[in-house]
Amino acid sequence: MSNKVDFLVIGSGIAGLSFALKAAQKGTVHIITKATEDESNTKYAQGGIAGVTYAPDSFEKHIQDTLSCGDGLCNEKIVRIVINESRQRIDELIAWGASFDKDQKEILIWQKKVGIVSIVYCIIKI
Ligand SMILES: Cc1cc2nc3c(=O)[nH]c(=O)nc-3n(C[C@H](O)[C@H](O)[C@H](O)COP(=O)(O)OP(=O)(O)OC[C@H]3O[C@@H](n4cnc5c(N)ncnc54)[C@H](O)[C@@H]3O)c2cc1C
Repeated sequence: MSNKVDFLVIGSGIAGLSFALKAAQKGTVHIITKATEDESNTKYAQGGIAGVTYAPDSFEKHIQDTLSCGDGLCNEKIVRIVINESRQRIDELIAWGASFDKDQKEILIWQKKVGIVSIVYCIIKI
């Protein structure tokens, strides 16, 4: 059996599914994955997603923290893209219906973390 599609996505974690959602606006998409469709590291992530949200936090502090913790292993260009787009990507996930913890007033819960350089390091609990 042959099946012709515009985009073939391998993997059904957050990377594959995010790409698939965007690619679906341009053409047909098929997703191939191992095990079951929801079996991925993404399914088990629960600590939260880091994102730069408000002063005194800053993109540059997150970038320096990440490079410092990476101890020379990080690709700085990629680190800069990931951190500079962090809030956009989180908003995108929320718009797609990702479920994050909210307080009694239905406001997203942000946790404060202290990094090496960052004064405030915010994450959303999943
Ligand atoms: C217990 C746990 C807790 C975590 N907590 C956090 C957290 O709090 N915050 C955070 O930012 N990150 C956390 N992580 C890391 C985070 O889950 C991953 O970085 C992220 O989910 C990776 O997404 P991904 O789409 O790249 O990969 P995955 O979610 O792993 O998806 C990979 C997909 O590829 C498929 N696949 C693999 N090999 C093949 C193959 N040969 N053929 C076809 N399909 C294949 C898999 O089945 C899966 O669907 C956690 C991870 C774990 C395991």
